[in-house]
Amino acid sequence: RKLVGKVTTGSETFDALMGGGFETQAIVEVYGEFGSGKTQVAHQVAVNVQLPAEEGGLNGSVIIIDTENTFRPERIAQMVEGLPPSGEPEKPREPEEFLRNIHVARAYNSNHQILLAESALDLAEKMKKSGKPARLLIVDSLTAHFRAEYVGRGTLADRQQKLNKHLHTLMRFADLNNAVVLVTNQVMAKPDAFFGDPTKPVGGHIVGHTATFRIYLRKSKGEKRIARLIDSPNLPDGEAVFAVTSAGLMD
Ligand code: ATP
Ligand code: MG
Repeated sequence: RKLVGKVTTGSETFDALMGGGFETQAIVEVYGEFGSGKTQVAHQVAVNVQLPAEEGGLNGSVIIIDTENTFRPERIAQMVEGLPPSGEPEKPREPEEFLRNIHVARAYNSNHQILLAESALDLAEKMKKSGKPARLLIVDSLTAHFRAEYVGRGTLADRQQKLNKHLHTLMRFADLNNAVVLVTNQVMAKPDAFFGDPTKPVGGHIVGHTATFRIYLRKSKGEKRIARLIDSPNLPDGEAVFAVTSAGLMD
């Protein structure tokens, strides 16, 4: 087993909640209501994972499966500009370079999403030889297509089976590439008819040794957001307050 890596969120309190950052060989599920900041967290981690270890990254590239067409290159550029000063001020960071290391695929439906996750395994295998292997896979949103397509009680078991298989592919990705897999999941403030209690695991119990971290995000005053870690395998439950600003995530 390879040593677990950690990627900074950009916020010290959020990192501390996560035991130092988002772990590799794990699926991190960020869930919360619309506008709670799930996609913002995904964009920030897509920037930060590319940084060198001294700056909280893994010197890696990123694969994004975008199911809601919410990936914004301009936002990545803004976050690169907003990074804290680097240890090498003579080498300015180029937003273009960060964007080149982010491979985005749009998923048009749940079956397409499943296929793209399988293709991501092949793509990452090819990228292993490059200087920037894939160390982050984002699925934003994990559940939107499944929710839209599998409506009604009769289709629940089918949806669950598909989602479980998809999660297994994602776990394989995390393990084979020593990567972080970050998935988002929109939940309603009230328990949702399909996914039930938002504090219960979506997709049921996940087997295998890959850890799963569940983070419940909610809005606070202004730019402030609250992240709550729920039922982590090896970390205490707790909360962290951070900010989503034009420069990105920070304390
Ligand atoms: P959904 O469930 O609808 O996908 P989400 O949880 O992904 O929602 P985000 O898109 O991550 O929500 O959050 C949107 C919020 O992030 C905005 O309402 C704003 O508060 C903040 N935000 C987005 N872009 C910027 C920016 N450039 N500068 C500052 N804040 C921003
Ligand atoms: Mg979003």
